[in-house]
Amino acid sequence: MRICRFDDRKIGLVKGDQVYDASVLLERLPNFRWPLPLGDALIDRLSELAPQLEAAARESTPVPIDSVELLSPVANPSKIVAAPVNYSKHMQEVVSDADLHHGTEVRPIERMGVFLKAVSSLVGAGHGVKLRFPERRTDHEVELAVVIGKRADRVPRQRALEYVAGYMVGLDMTVRGSEERSLRKSLDSYTVFGPWLTTADEVGDPGNLDLALTVNGEARQASNTRHLIFDVPKLIELASSFYTLLPGDVIMTGTPEGVAPVVHGDRIEATIEKLGTLKVEVGTA
Ligand code: MN
Repeated sequence: MRICRFDDRKIGLVKGDQVYDASVLLERLPNFRWPLPLGDALIDRLSELAPQLEAAARESTPVPIDSVELLSPVANPSKIVAAPVNYSKHMQEVVSDADLHHGTEVRPIERMGVFLKAVSSLVGAGHGVKLRFPERRTDHEVELAVVIGKRADRVPRQRALEYVAGYMVGLDMTVRGSEERSLRKSLDSYTVFGPWLTTADEVGDPGNLDLALTVNGEARQASNTRHLIFDVPKLIELASSFYTLLPGDVIMTGTPEGVAPVVHGDRIEATIEKLGTLKVEVGTA
C-alpha cells in the first residue's frame, strides 16, 4: 500500500498517479485528551486499519496526485533519528572538502552513533524547503527513510525488519557550518518526507534500492542502499539499544556522495526505487 497525507489533513491511498481519499479513517483514530501520548496514532494502527483504508478508497473518486498538496506521510513522529556519514564515498568527499566539514571532526558511524533532528523541521513535498539563511550554504541529502511500525526496545538486527511499517524518500537538508549537526539540520522545513509511505511488504529488502537526486533536472546524487555502511537492520539495532523507538519514529539512513548546494528557485527531485519521486521547490523563509 502507498499511503499519503494531503491537503487539509486528509488521508489518501495512492494507486498509479491517482490518490483516493480515505479520510473517513480519521473517525477510527482516537480522540485524545491532554497530555497527548507520544508517537503516531495512524502508523500505530496501520496494520489493523489497512483493510478499511482499501474499503474507504474504493468508495471515493480519485484525483490526480499532482493536483493535491502532499504533507509528510508521518504526522507525529516522537523522534527523527538520523545517521551521520553512512556511505564510504560520501565520507571521502566530506573529509576532502573544507566547505563540508568546516573543521569539525568527521568520524565513522561506528564511533559516532546516530543523532536526532527536531520533529518541528518536518514537512511534506507540497510545503517545500524554505532557506532561513540564504547567505549560507544549504545542501541536499537524499536518504532512505525508515518508518517504525511498533514499539522497538533493544531489537537485535536479525529481527529488526519486523518493526518496520514502511519506507519513504527523505531529504535531510543541511546548513553547512561549524555548529552541531542537530542544529544545522533542524531548521523549519529541513526534513522532507514523501511523496507517500510505501508499506514494507511492497518493498521487501531495503538493502538494494537505487536512489538518486536531481536539481533542475541535473544529476547530483546516484547510488544504491547496498552501499550503506550500517544497513537498515543495524541502524534499528543501534538506535533501539539507546532509546525505545515508537510507532511513527523515522530513521534517516544517511546520504550517498554528491551533496551540493541549492538556492532559492531550485527544484529538487529525489527518487528511490519502489518508493517514488519527491518533488520539492526551494524557497526562502
Ligand atoms: Mn544526512
